[in-house]
Amino acid sequence: MSKTTITVVGGGLAGSLMAVYFAKKGYEVNLFERRPDMRNADISAGRSINLALSARGLHALDKVGLKEAILSEAIPMHGRTMHDESGQLAYQPYGTEGQFINSVSRGGLNIQLLELADENPDVHLFFNHKCQEVNFETGQTTFEDENGNTVIQEADFILGSDGAFSQVRMEMMTSGKLNYSQDYLDHGYKELTIPATADDEFALEPNALHIWPRGEYMMIALPNPDKSFTCTLFYPFTGPVSFETLKTKTDVEDFFNKHFADAVPLMPTLIEDFFANPTGSLVTVRCYPWVKEKAALLGDACHAVVPFYGQGMNCAFEDCVILDECINEANGDLEVAFDAYQKSRKVNADAIADLAIQNFTEMQDLVGDEDFLHYKQVEHNLCELHPDLFQSQYEMVTFTNVPYSTAQSKGAQNTALVKKIIANGWEDKITDRTFVLDILSSANALPT
Ligand SMILES: Cc1cc2nc3c(=O)[nH]c(=O)nc-3n(C[C@H](O)[C@H](O)[C@H](O)COP(=O)(O)OP(=O)(O)OC[C@H]3O[C@@H](n4cnc5c(N)ncnc54)[C@H](O)[C@@H]3O)c2cc1C
Repeated sequence: MSKTTITVVGGGLAGSLMAVYFAKKGYEVNLFERRPDMRNADISAGRSINLALSARGLHALDKVGLKEAILSEAIPMHGRTMHDESGQLAYQPYGTEGQFINSVSRGGLNIQLLELADENPDVHLFFNHKCQEVNFETGQTTFEDENGNTVIQEADFILGSDGAFSQVRMEMMTSGKLNYSQDYLDHGYKELTIPATADDEFALEPNALHIWPRGEYMMIALPNPDKSFTCTLFYPFTGPVSFETLKTKTDVEDFFNKHFADAVPLMPTLIEDFFANPTGSLVTVRCYPWVKEKAALLGDACHAVVPFYGQGMNCAFEDCVILDECINEANGDLEVAFDAYQKSRKVNADAIADLAIQNFTEMQDLVGDEDFLHYKQVEHNLCELHPDLFQSQYEMVTFTNVPYSTAQSKGAQNTALVKKIIANGWEDKITDRTFVLDILSSANALPT
């Protein structure tokens, strides 16, 4: 019997991982990527040099045996270090003892996934192939190669994992009913660098994600294995406080000296980086259905989210796990599996999209606020004292595989509880388990 064939469009993070999952099931996979092979070409992996990898992504990598290799090159970040305008630091752990997120290189991770895919004789990789058209009825996908030639690929099924500006999604939109929205933030982002010091050390504490919250905007920095940090400035595109007002070297110097004074001495190439690096945009994409006849969407192609919960890639990797489980449950009937997958994932993709926007406010504004820091301390104490009774929203999203929609609803309930404890001055009582059980039970928030 001939094997089921699948065309994967897009060999980014999610497409290359899903190709491995498909091949492990015995399908024949042809993966087409628009860009050159990043294993040979010196190209940037695209947006953001490093990414925060957490439980959901690690779980998906573990299932293909990549978790340990990725973790061996990752830098653990145990909490947030906040820098105020005077250079004072405040620290907030992300979770309880042993819980941390991981700074990983986007390019390094993508290369390892492509290598793993390439090791499987049932996966065939085609680079410099840009998807142009999809025939959802026949399973035919049309690409343009680097020489401008048209390449047509036949398959039983098609997976569109071609990112936030997906061509496969675009084809779905033009050939039928697809509800679609895209919402751009007023903020864009620009990547900058803090290199290793002259003694080849990290210039800042390496095991933390650094944040310079400034109300209307912020800068963050994540560590890299070469002891540098990649900084990202999130700043409005237009208006009186915006990228459009940072036109000259002096504008940029004055702005950074005023608002990020402690970082400036650590950024010797600030001006060059600022003017050389592009300003990226931040978009939330929602659409439905994710399936049309023989094709399904996965990852950013169906649910791009803003990066403030560090979950876009983690969510895309979780898509792979859920689709894999749906294929098992459907005994290999891919049409049934695709439908079950979209039904299961849509509500969770919507939840993480909302949470990511909510976290934007928290990161740029609240993390520097004293009341908020107190709130976080009480929440942290509850998590640490009663881990079996109480989990913060951040913990559920980042350190568990609890569905995002549950983390959203349960997290909102838990937030209300912490606020109630603070409003009533009950902070000292939370060491008492009976007290905590009582308030959880009165709020109908006991773990089930
Ligand atoms: C600034 C920033 C910071 C981020 N930080 C984090 C973080 O810390 N943690 C986290 O989990 N997520 C983060 N994300 C989100 C994360 O980058 C995405 O969610 C993730 O890359 C999605 O993977 P994907 O494979 O769906 O899409 P992509 O990684 O975008 O891959 C899509 C691939 O498809 C290819 N392609 C596109 N069009 C075509 C075509 N027509 N034909 C063929 N191939 C095509 C592209 O070249 C690309 O290789 C961040 C995003 C940004 C912008």
